[in-house]
Amino acid sequence: MEDKIWLSSPHMGGNELSYIQSAFDENWIAPLGPNVSGFEKDLEDYLGEDSHVACLSSGTGAIHLALVLADVQRDDEVICQTFTFCGSSNPIAYVGARPVFVDSELDTWNMCPIHLEEAIKDRIKEGKKPKAVIMVHLYGMPAKIDEITEVCKKYDVFLIEDAAEALGSTYKGRACGTFGDISILSFNGNKIITTSGGGALVCRSKEVKEKAIFLATQARDNAPHYQHSVIGYNYRMSNIVAGVGRGQMEILDKHVGLRRKNNEFYKDIFLNKKDIKVLEEPTKDYFSNHWLSVILFKKTDEMYNKEKLRIFLQNFNIESRPLWKPMHLQPIYKNEKYYGENNASSLFEKGLCLPSGSNLTEIELNRIKKAINNWLN
Ligand SMILES: *Cc1c(COP(=O)(O)O)cnc(C)c1O
Repeated sequence: MEDKIWLSSPHMGGNELSYIQSAFDENWIAPLGPNVSGFEKDLEDYLGEDSHVACLSSGTGAIHLALVLADVQRDDEVICQTFTFCGSSNPIAYVGARPVFVDSELDTWNMCPIHLEEAIKDRIKEGKKPKAVIMVHLYGMPAKIDEITEVCKKYDVFLIEDAAEALGSTYKGRACGTFGDISILSFNGNKIITTSGGGALVCRSKEVKEKAIFLATQARDNAPHYQHSVIGYNYRMSNIVAGVGRGQMEILDKHVGLRRKNNEFYKDIFLNKKDIKVLEEPTKDYFSNHWLSVILFKKTDEMYNKEKLRIFLQNFNIESRPLWKPMHLQPIYKNEKYYGENNASSLFEKGLCLPSGSNLTEIELNRIKKAINNWLN
């Protein structure tokens, strides 16, 4: 059997170990230190827009803190894009609130602004104005940000931007991760850059960042002993892990370029296949990091569908993966509200993520191309 080709595997730049070495040299083996501050500064410079970044132990933890900072309380409602990974929505349950799921539109596959407004209006009518909205840029594709922001402004609802998959993507030239009232990033093992595990909160002011760090370090009051007036969390990033992040920031743009090249590679393979479409940017306003390249079958039958292709590729030791299963279809959320017209479930039925790592070699790309062409013919 030939070596496994992964969907998206870690891709180190080369300098990560020297940052880790400096943590050891200076004995900063703790959830704070020069690498944490340095990684935060790198991210702030990269994102621009006067961003204030607090590095945390995970993207899921970052969403949890974002909900706490948005003052979401028990029994409140929070609107979330249904087509996403559970890390977007599970923190709603952590704070005892209820999710309300909203369908995707078919240009970017992210939250539909029309169904978002429908959901907000309907919840207000029921006397339950949502406390926050969680918008996601899935697979690196920016959502319809202007339209969604406008709806949130109109009804004065707090916007959380889940940019876990979208570091390096831009919308109208501005970095994803700077559009929410609070935004989050993830550096988990298969994301566009990785620290092995980690995340960040991107805040719009220094004060909010300081509050986030206070909450992420057990909310200790200013006293010589341990004194606590609010519930805190142990969510800060380790100085060792942050060293990996600093090394990864040096090659982020290069890796975005390589992932975008993968997308061109797949567009070329499926060029003459009218019944399979590669997810592409709808207009020039959208710039995707193409974290994962994704295809969609226009119509499927028993022999010709994403699952048949997935299994075929698996036989060549090539990993591919179904799209995210919508949250409103998950057993854990079966009793929650949903607004939409089943676009997300249709995407789930007809789509497939193809190998997209920035570290794919020419030989591996040729293996993928041969296998796909083999199946298509
Ligand atoms: C990865 C991911 C998260 C969670 O990040 P972790 O760092 O894995 O906790 C949240 N939302 C989306 C869309 C993700 O892809």
